Amino acid sequence: MSTDGWVRDILRCPACASELRDGTRPDGAPELVCTGEACALAYPVRDGVPVLLIDEAYPAAGTV
Ligand SMILES: [Zn+2]
Repeated sequence: MSTDGWVRDILRCPACASELRDGTRPDGAPELVCTGEACALAYPVRDGVPVLLIDEAYPAAGTV
């Protein structure tokens, strides 16, 4: 299962409630990136499951 479609449609950033978009880390791992300009956190996707925990998030700078 990928993060395309239904998952992305219903998930929101837990920090700012903005929508999330699909992203890819430099090492090729998937991630979900917050579209909030003031937030810009990225969340890891582990085994197809988005980990929407602020403690697990990291700055998305450089992933665009
Ligand atoms: Zn956010």
